[in-house]
Amino acid sequence: MRALVKAMAEPGLWLDDQPVPPIGPDDVLIKINKTGICGTDIHIYAWDEWARRTVPVPMVVGHEYAGEIVETGSNVRNLPIGQRVSGEGHVIGMNSRAARGGRFHLDPETKGIGVNIPGAFAEYLRLPAFNVVPLPDTIDDEIGAILDPLGNAVHTALSFDLVGEDVLVTGAGPIGIMSAAVARHVGARHVVITDINPMRLALAAEVADVVPVDVSKEDLSSVKAKLGMKEGFDIGLEMSGAPAAFDQMVEHLVMGGKIAMLGIPARPAPVDWTKVVFKMLTVKGIYGREMFETWHKMLAMLQSGLDVRKVITHRLPISDYELGFQAMQSGNSGKIVLDWKR
Ligand code: NAD
Ligand code: ZN
Repeated sequence: MRALVKAMAEPGLWLDDQPVPPIGPDDVLIKINKTGICGTDIHIYAWDEWARRTVPVPMVVGHEYAGEIVETGSNVRNLPIGQRVSGEGHVIGMNSRAARGGRFHLDPETKGIGVNIPGAFAEYLRLPAFNVVPLPDTIDDEIGAILDPLGNAVHTALSFDLVGEDVLVTGAGPIGIMSAAVARHVGARHVVITDINPMRLALAAEVADVVPVDVSKEDLSSVKAKLGMKEGFDIGLEMSGAPAAFDQMVEHLVMGGKIAMLGIPARPAPVDWTKVVFKMLTVKGIYGREMFETWHKMLAMLQSGLDVRKVITHRLPISDYELGFQAMQSGNSGKIVLDWKR
């Protein structure tokens, strides 16, 4: 089968011929139709310090995908051949207190497909049946291929009650934009999204009814004044990983405000904890998606009018994967979907 492989411990990814992975009794084999490129894949492509520490070589990469089941293991029930699916890319253990308590997303033995174990940038993916999420007919393969990052956005946005609240999203990358769309969908009042990249802010405004703010040009105090906000934002969704954005969020939240933080700072950065303490802020870290509550809510919201399709800015055949990676690296893209059938 064709697969995108981290074949050598150096920058790059290689489209290569690989054996179809054999499945075990509790697995399914998925024929991949479409995949999404994630920021994580860019780290692996660039072979930065994190990737060198984390990713075994050689290995098939990729973790955002949609496809259909072509084979099931002998223990697998209720997943018919031909079923269209996406699935959770975090493969968990069942021994920890968290997993045995049903809090699967908190299992410390979690391994990521395409990061620690073979991934989805391939014609076929082996996946535990436990991880499979069947797709309703109304959700097509390109949306199916971006459910992993949409799930990050949904997990973050639904961490706190947003109904009637004023929400500040820092970072208009694909996930920040989708989290702003979720905030709007579930009934926030003002949704302000910040970035320092005008292309991304324009994309945010196309995807959802949000107020885009270029924080390299405009101060959030004047934005709050324009919107008639007397105090500050009730909820912050940190989606940039930029320390400056976190500082700004702390500054512009109300007393008792809540922050859900998905963005990953590139290196340890100082925080003004005095402000966090005296404002009595709650800061919640977010990793991955809740299994499988995030998946349920995400599919249900897509079926009830949440529309994030415009966040996809590039659709390419797999043979053009280098173009896709270049577009992602430029910072001037939304989601990029690669088609394995073309
Ligand atoms: P991205 O890198 O595409 O987007 C980040 C955006 O933040 C960029 O558009 C950038 O211009 C913007 N930015 C930079 N400095 C800023 C500032 N001072 N103020 C406001 N915006 C600023 O990332 P993405 O793919 O959308 O993912 C969002 C974040 O979530 C990343 O940090 C990523 O590493 C992280 N992530 C975390 C998880 C998790 O499980 N915790 C999963 C996926 C992604
Ligand atoms: Zn991802």
